[in-house]
Amino acid sequence: MTDRVSSEQRSRMMAAVRGTDTMPELYVRRQLFAAGFRFRLHAKALPGKPDIVLPRFRIAVFVHGCFWHGHSCARGRRPATNVQFWQAKIDGNIRRDRKNRADLKAAGWSVVVVWQCRLESATQAVLERLKQLSAAQTE
Ligand SMILES: [Zn+2]
Repeated sequence: MTDRVSSEQRSRMMAAVRGTDTMPELYVRRQLFAAGFRFRLHAKALPGKPDIVLPRFRIAVFVHGCFWHGHSCARGRRPATNVQFWQAKIDGNIRRDRKNRADLKAAGWSVVVVWQCRLESATQAVLERLKQLSAAQTE
């Protein structure tokens, strides 16, 4: 099977989804902010540049698109064409994500992954956890 997407087209496609301020991430940020939590974005000094970092709780949050990060859900299903390309690309992302999470944990961070397909429930879970931690800190 030949690759029908030109490399120029492909880099444009990838650039479009690689953008930092994606909608799911904005959703999580809005919910956290509305609940009174303050955070930093794309902490460049940390492994994998976590999307949202809450230094007070030492929590790093990644908001992952199911397709690009290879989630085992319907949205994470891989295309039937260009199989090798997608396999290399997405497996590479999965490996990188795994390494980043391990490095963060080794540095004493808790890592939370919010998957796009579970955006609302995962965000609620993060909020619950932060509220509990917050209450414990102020006791
Ligand atoms: Zn998913």
